[in-house]
Amino acid sequence: MILTTLDGRFPSRTRFARYCDDVVDFLFDTTPKKEWTIVVKMRRHLLHENEPFDEVNDLFYQDGGLCWIEDDNYILIELARNFVDRNRELIHYSIPELTTTAAHELVHAKQWIEGYIGESDIIVEGHTQNWWMENHPHNELPWEREAYELQSHLSELW
Ligand SMILES: [Zn+2]
Repeated sequence: MILTTLDGRFPSRTRFARYCDDVVDFLFDTTPKKEWTIVVKMRRHLLHENEPFDEVNDLFYQDGGLCWIEDDNYILIELARNFVDRNRELIHYSIPELTTTAAHELVHAKQWIEGYIGESDIIVEGHTQNWWMENHPHNELPWEREAYELQSHLSELW
């Protein structure tokens, strides 16, 4: 049993809630026995406040979405409503960008729930999660590959 709830200011909130439910239904062939809650929280932005401006890429360090396990049986996903440009102006992410990011993070939620990812010493595809992170760029990590592979297909559920 998985309960997904929204927290914060969502565009098309009712539809967004249904969309998240549909993505979760799609991702799980069988519902887990334990009860899980996934909270999808909309934040104004996900700026890394302590990081300096990234001159190389000409942007502030920021995330579009985040997912982690907050507590036993409780997953927290955060979505950024805005991208912060170099002048610190907030640029709305479009609905397709938001739904794609939400799908991506819900794949990570599934990975947490199924125990595919976890503590940094958990073994993923024959190596610790830490080893993967030390030796591969972000988008080549196995759990990221799966999330990137599924996100556009899942976003068609919108
Ligand atoms: Zn990811």
